[in-house]
Amino acid sequence: NTDLAKEYVNGVFETVKSRNANETEFHQAVREVFDSLVPVFAKHPHYMNQGILERMVEPERMISFRVPWTDDHGHVKVNRGFRVQFNSALGPYKGGLRFHPSVNASIIKFLGFEQIFKNSLTGQPIGGGKGGSDFDPKGKSDAEIMRFTQSFMTELSKFIGPDVDVPAGDIGVGAREIGYLFGQYKRIRGGFETGVLTGKGLGYGGSLARKEATGYGTVYFVEEMLKDKNLSFNGSTVVVSGSGNVSIYAMEKAIQLGAKVVACSDSSGYVYDPNGINLTTVKRLKEVENKRISEYVNEHPHATFYQDYQGIWSIPCDIALPCATQNEIDELAAKVLVANGVKAIGEGANMPSTLEAIEVFLNNDILFAPAKAANAGGVSVSALEMAQNSSRLSWTFEEVDAKLQDIMINIYRDSVEAAKTYDAPGNLVVGANIAGFVKVADAMVAQGV
Ligand code: GLU
Repeated sequence: NTDLAKEYVNGVFETVKSRNANETEFHQAVREVFDSLVPVFAKHPHYMNQGILERMVEPERMISFRVPWTDDHGHVKVNRGFRVQFNSALGPYKGGLRFHPSVNASIIKFLGFEQIFKNSLTGQPIGGGKGGSDFDPKGKSDAEIMRFTQSFMTELSKFIGPDVDVPAGDIGVGAREIGYLFGQYKRIRGGFETGVLTGKGLGYGGSLARKEATGYGTVYFVEEMLKDKNLSFNGSTVVVSGSGNVSIYAMEKAIQLGAKVVACSDSSGYVYDPNGINLTTVKRLKEVENKRISEYVNEHPHATFYQDYQGIWSIPCDIALPCATQNEIDELAAKVLVANGVKAIGEGANMPSTLEAIEVFLNNDILFAPAKAANAGGVSVSALEMAQNSSRLSWTFEEVDAKLQDIMINIYRDSVEAAKTYDAPGNLVVGANIAGFVKVADAMVAQGV
């Protein structure tokens, strides 16, 4: 019954708050999932008797460690490293590493918690984990990045392995960092364990289409959602925040599908280009030259740079793809998007909308693709990379891309189905949370306490 289920969920949430004081991002991620699950517990009370939520919100293991390194001037610096091994019911812990000054236990736990359900949704055999450091890669030399990354792996290597825990990239961790991490792991282990990391270079076990996977996947998912309403990217105006890996390939796929992308951003501000963002320029600035997005206007003088990264949500568009970072769309930004006639939101970043913003979208019947489902393409292709590594094969771009499309369409259908079953038709937040949860919960029940 519903009252009992509500009481159960709220009780566990109180414990989460008192045990993890001040971890506001973690609370937010838990609250969002919990609200979706009330109808599941009302219908299937055996999950409550099994203490499923109490177990799910407590990481199996939370590792925190010192990362000492020497900068180019010979000064010794210390950062803090983390790895949360949250849930292994479905497979080895799997999830990225984030290097960003905002990283702390709360950020890593919110990301790790989301990863459990996201990874479950992919249908691949992977558990949930996440890690990172408060190290700021901005302004660091290549040698500093290498020394920091090697020190980080010296400690992390004790806790990971191809069948144990498989990290990958996230904000601040791309192909270069994965290369240095892999090299250090290999030195320490004295063996070539290809499957220990994903997002590797193509020459040493990386998968084709991994780089594109998160962005492409988000667009595949949103296109499927639009199709149900006889809408499409074709002919739409799109705003994509960020200009990193997720954003760039979301823009690329949206443009391929016939959309016009008019804005993108980085932490310094956003660029508005009424003629449509020139992706060749963005790729060169961001992937090759490591420059700020403000430089874009030097080459495209009809475009404008605004020194206000949140202002990007005031640009009228049909489809908004937040692909930068957590909580980048707050209630006000959501209201502005709605007032300007937005039809669909696709979350490429992790938890880019606040709880209040999500409410605004859902209350206004805006099509809303939640992060757990919409950005699962990255980790899906990571799982495909693991499969290729285990079998010592490498698949073609077309093969991987076709599998990615299948996975995204399945996630969409599973989420729609779960929402329908639990009386929230069309609500993909509820649908994705439930579809992701049930598989993990059943595995936990089967594997005992
Ligand atoms: N960091 C990505 C995510 O948030 C990818 C993780 C992975 O490939 O393991 O899902």
